[in-house]
Order: sequence, then structure tokens, then C-alpha cells
Amino acid sequence: MGQALPVTSVRVVDVERITPGTARISFTADELPALMEDRPDQQMKLCLPRAGQTVPRLPERCADDPYGMRWYEAYLAIPEAERPWMRGFTVRSYDRGRNVMAVDFVLHGDAGPASRWGAAARPGDVLGMVGPSSLYARPLPAARRMLLAGDETALPAIATVLEALPAGTGAVVYAEVADPAEERELPPAAGGAEVHWVHRDRGGSLTEAVRDAGPELDGVGAAWVAGEASAVRELRRHLVEERQLPKNAVEFSGYWRRSLTQDDGPTEEDLAEAAERAADAS
Ligand SMILES: Cc1cc2nc3c(=O)[nH]c(=O)nc-3n(C[C@H](O)[C@H](O)[C@H](O)COP(=O)(O)OP(=O)(O)OC[C@H]3O[C@@H](n4cnc5c(N)ncnc54)[C@H](O)[C@@H]3O)c2cc1C
Repeated sequence: MGQALPVTSVRVVDVERITPGTARISFTADELPALMEDRPDQQMKLCLPRAGQTVPRLPERCADDPYGMRWYEAYLAIPEAERPWMRGFTVRSYDRGRNVMAVDFVLHGDAGPASRWGAAARPGDVLGMVGPSSLYARPLPAARRMLLAGDETALPAIATVLEALPAGTGAVVYAEVADPAEERELPPAAGGAEVHWVHRDRGGSLTEAVRDAGPELDGVGAAWVAGEASAVRELRRHLVEERQLPKNAVEFSGYWRRSLTQDDGPTEEDLAEAAERAADAS
């Protein structure tokens, strides 16, 4: 019997604007104590209600799901008009004592169902959650000094990585945000962390900031990069080709694509990247 991917209803218990453009939404559910693991970068999919629904319709739970994909067949079996919007998110924190999971939603406007929902969320609202699952856990590359780079969507994961890094690993963080008001406090790391904020309103970009970095990146032996897909792709190329980091020392993930929703199919670049990942893994 394979491992079933958990499908759970989660209920909002608190909403807090941690910056003008980010809502920290806290959820609870009876299943959370069994689901939440003590590891960084726990990713899951949140299922959001369609127009006219107050509660999203969730895919049937599959008892036997060896590759963690049967839930997706069940998801696609829901008629399109009732099928929930599904978006990737990160567990920012889990408070076992209170049984509360916090998720930081980037509020990037009304164009996306997740951003729209996050801006209007109230205690009592219900979402679906698929995962998190250790099936998708990615080990962090090991190094004495590690680069963590990303935009607002990656900050929840970066914060959990900082909390988990061992004392023998120092961190340098490059974080791209809209403007100085979007900066937030990041947790300390046992081995120390140096944080560089990059502001889009001042013309800054993550890729350029890392490309232009000098001694800040001395001794960096591994990197974790996430955020807008083309920026992530460019950064990875820079780190591998110009800064000579081994490919397997760069953990990277495109979290969103400019002008495309998460429902849109893969682009040529996405497919090329998937093929490269598969070739690297074999
Ligand atoms: C593993 C993983 C973990 C993630 N963790 C988080 C997280 O913890 N918090 C979080 O907020 N996001 C996170 N994301 C990113 C999030 O899933 C995407 O930003 C998603 O597109 C948001 O859905 P939406 O419904 O708001 O917009 P969509 O319907 O997907 O897109 C609508 C439009 O908005 C644009 N858009 C999407 N996201 C952004 C953005 N951030 N800034 C500007 N424009 C945007 C798209 O290009 C598109 O034009 C994660 C993604 C993955 C894959």
C-alpha cells in the first residue's frame, strides 16, 4: 500500500497584514498535528473556492497513492466549473501547542484567485489543502556558506530554511521585494545570516543584485533559489556557469510565471528545464 497524499479542509482562525502587500493567514484543522513535519520548506497546494462557492469542492482522498499523483486524477474528475483553483504555498510556521499553521499570501492584485482570496480572507473561511508530504521533500544542498535568494513568494520558505540551517552553515540572503515597506524580519540562523534587500521600486532586481555581488558571495558553496520563474532560471545559470557552483548544489524552483497563471500549461522553457532535471537525476 503506497502513501496517500493528504487532502484536508483548513479553517482560517486569524488574518494579519504583516506588510502592506502580505497577509499572514493562520489556519487550523484536526488533521494538522499528524500532517505537519519538523522540516523546512514544507510545500502544499491550497484549493480555493470557485465563484459562487463558499467552501471549495475537494478531490476524493485515495487510500493507495504510491507516487502521490492519484489525487490529481480525482481533482481533474471534478467538473471544471466546480473544480477549485489550486495554487502552491509554503507552511511559514506551525504552532503545535495551538494547532495553528501560518501561511503568508503575497497580495499581488485581483488577477489571481489566491491573491484575491488572501486579500479578503476572514476567520471562519475554509480552504482545501493537498499535502504537505515528505514525498516532495527536497534535501538542502550542504555547504559551509549558503546563498538563499528569492522574491516575496519565497520569503516564507527562506525563513524556514534559516531556522533549520545547522550552526556550521552561514547564510547570505538576497531578497527582492516591491519597496522598503515590504521588508520583514527574518529569523536568525544558528550559523549567522547576512540579509540584502533588493527594491523593485528603486530599479533593483534579484538577478542583477546577485550578479553584481562581490565579496558578499565569497565562500558560497550551495544555493537555494525560488521566485518568478525566468529570474530563477537566469540566476541558476549565473551561479552554475559564472560562479561555478556544481549543478547539484543549486536547488531552484520557479514559483510563478509572469503573465501566466498556475493553470496555464508549461512553456518551452519549463519543458526544457524539466527534461534537464530528469537528466541530472538519472
Ligand atoms: C512550491 C511553491 C510554494 C509557494 N509558496 C508561496 C507562498 O508561501 N506564498 C505566496 O504568496 N506564494 C507562494 N507561491 C507562489 C504562488 O503559488 C503563485 O504566486 C501563484 O501564481 C499565486 O496564485 P494566484 O491565484 O494569486 O495567481 P495566478 O492565477 O496563478 O496568476 C494570475 C496573474 O498574477 C501573476 N502573479 C502570480 N503570482 C504573482 C506574484 N507573486 N507577483 C506578481 N504577479 C503574480 C501571474 O503572472 C498572472 O499574470 C508558491 C509557489 C510554489 C510552486
